[in-house]
Amino acid sequence: MAREYDIAKTSGACSACERELTVEEDFIVALFDTAEGFRRDDFCKSCWESRPDDADQAFSIWQSRIPKPDAPKKQVINNNVLVGFFEKLAGHDEPAKINFRFVLALMLMRKKLLIYDGSDEEEGREVWTMHFRKEQSPVKVIRPELDEEHIAEVGSQLGALFEVET
Ligand SMILES: [Zn+2]
Repeated sequence: MAREYDIAKTSGACSACERELTVEEDFIVALFDTAEGFRRDDFCKSCWESRPDDADQAFSIWQSRIPKPDAPKKQVINNNVLVGFFEKLAGHDEPAKINFRFVLALMLMRKKLLIYDGSDEEEGREVWTMHFRKEQSPVKVIRPELDEEHIAEVGSQLGALFEVET
């Protein structure tokens, strides 16, 4: 049967038992931080129950659901998942993570969750000061030297990992 819905670049199958996930099925997404970058594994609920111990070492874990065929794609992911990932990336110094965090900041700004307050130079890098709309505490975001093309590339990687339109 042809799949009539678009679940971005996810496999749509459980990475452990390889069963195809069904419409409206809840499943667990675990994002692993590997030498080659982030790897996303989807688990059906029963495989997650019996997951290997190292699965709990994942960088980010969240629950998702296979959308109905007519569901708007951008509602697939909860904003809290994006914010949680953004916060976990703080303090990491690898360029790939700095890039992810910056492009996520742009995405959260477009969603009006994160507000830009200003920019400074710290240790030779441009650093943005921002804050979450509902909180006062400042959030620092390193602004890497990315051109538009590179920002779009990082954005599409995020889109693939998180099933969001970027
Ligand atoms: Zn499974």
